Amino acid sequence: MERILFLAHVEPDGSLVKAALEALASALALGEVTVGLVGGSVQGAADQIAGCGAMRFLAVEGEAFAQGRYATDAAAGEALCRAAGAELVIAPSTSRWARALPGVACRLGGRVDTHAASIATMNEVPAVTRWFYRQRMEGVLTRSQRPWIVLLEPGCVTAWTGTSGVANVERVAVDVSTTRTTVIGMQAPPADEQTIRPDAKLLFVAGAGWTKKQADGAVHAQEAEKLILGFLHAAKASLGGSKSLVDLSGEGEAVLKCMTHLNQVGQTGSTPRHPKGLSTCCHGEEPHVVGWRFIGERRAINLDANCGWARGKADVLYVSDAFAVMRELNRLLA
Ligand SMILES: Cc1cc2nc3c(=O)[nH]c(=O)nc-3n(C[C@H](O)[C@H](O)[C@H](O)COP(=O)(O)OP(=O)(O)OC[C@H]3O[C@@H](n4cnc5c(N)ncnc54)[C@H](O)[C@@H]3O)c2cc1C
Repeated sequence: MERILFLAHVEPDGSLVKAALEALASALALGEVTVGLVGGSVQGAADQIAGCGAMRFLAVEGEAFAQGRYATDAAAGEALCRAAGAELVIAPSTSRWARALPGVACRLGGRVDTHAASIATMNEVPAVTRWFYRQRMEGVLTRSQRPWIVLLEPGCVTAWTGTSGVANVERVAVDVSTTRTTVIGMQAPPADEQTIRPDAKLLFVAGAGWTKKQADGAVHAQEAEKLILGFLHAAKASLGGSKSLVDLSGEGEAVLKCMTHLNQVGQTGSTPRHPKGLSTCCHGEEPHVVGWRFIGERRAINLDANCGWARGKADVLYVSDAFAVMRELNRLLA
């Protein structure tokens, strides 16, 4: 039986994010687990998962660990892996861990796998699945090296739910006196401009058609922006874009000021995971649609009955004017 460590960092409000609870569920399915927490104050998070049946709760706690920072996160991760004698380390693929844990694997002489979609026992050894070549092929891999750190992608398994309680947390000391990096603040767009929402039930994709001349021979970019933002606001959807549209934004011809290359879905963009997707004014060409691999139910609105979506790529295609449809949808949602 491998010694398994579930490793998570605690949010500023003292809780664990959904991705961490998903990683916990995966770790528990493999066997007996030690919990390792890193944060400014960890007791709340430990109590939140007190009923998970973990053997031990270890933590690196203190002001220096409240903030994501490579030096302190890597030191904390290393100390917890050593304290737990961990052979297998399961962690959520948050941006904070994705930065720090590969370095931890290097310090421990172990290995790390990122972007894992699952981990389960196969032929009596733990095996990871992950996608290769822009999500076209799924690989299954095992490793003989230990410790083996696995970063699990969010949204792939059901998050752990269970009773809270009072956890007995053992603190592990980490010396941070030599840390040279000082975090002086965070720069982030205002919350209402935050258009990428990985936990949203719906992915709303805008294509370049929103910027094209419409039936009256004119471009209606301002109305397009109003309709799209109005819908995102009302439906709490996540915003994706086709390459053509995000490239236009890069040229300063933004329909949507908040649309950047980070929104691009597709072969050279992202492959988000949402239960549903609605594509508007986007042709549905293959390099775009490969990014829809993990979208459960797909619908598209396009004026062209012969667009890519009509060729088996969408469950439902509305051959219609997206301006009119979104105007009506926003009216109904209001
Ligand atoms: C190597 C490579 C990698 C690529 N990677 C990506 C990628 O990652 N992501 C990506 O998106 N693309 C990618 N592309 C580009 C891709 O092939 C397409 O060029 C791009 O997706 C087209 O974007 P679009 O559908 O928004 O624009 P267009 O092809 O211009 O389509 C606009 C659509 O809007 C419709 N339309 C216009 N007005 C309305 C209206 N009022 N109501 C309804 N519909 C309307 C039109 O009928 C048309 O179908 C890649 C290409 C290559 C070669």
